[in-house]
Amino acid sequence: MEPKVIRGRDLKRDEFEKALKVEYHPEARYAWDAGYAVGKFLEGLKQGKILGVRCRRCRRILVPPRAFCELCFVPIDEWLELKDTGTVNTFSISYVSMDVKRLEEPEIPAVIEIDGASPGVGILHKLGEVDDPKNVKIGMKVKAVWKPEKERTGAITDILYFKPLEE
Ligand SMILES: [Zn+2]
Repeated sequence: MEPKVIRGRDLKRDEFEKALKVEYHPEARYAWDAGYAVGKFLEGLKQGKILGVRCRRCRRILVPPRAFCELCFVPIDEWLELKDTGTVNTFSISYVSMDVKRLEEPEIPAVIEIDGASPGVGILHKLGEVDDPKNVKIGMKVKAVWKPEKERTGAITDILYFKPLEE
């Protein structure tokens, strides 16, 4: 019997890819745990409270809270409620949104030193109800504007923004 001759040929690009590529659509479900300190902080936000912690060694009052002091390397377990007012530590006037769209009205992300926390300690949020972005200054006093209680979810966005405080 004569052997059957099978002639090969070059693969076309799509054939090549079909041979090498596997289509796979993972259904990646996951849950993220905020951890003890941040979890309690977020629970506080849901109740309209900004919670901080105090290190019993260096006495610094920290927000957002953390489970240990990064300077003293000791656990932190003393909690306190801080005010929902603060001072602009630094800010930026951004005409580009988080999803990279041009904005007519700028967003003003800012680091806000929360009243009651140690100097230089603050949270990153944004400013709102600003009549003219040119008037935003470092050292400006601001106050949190909260979501209505029923709409809060225990997220940093339970604070809508910080607005300038009249002095
Ligand atoms: Zn400390």
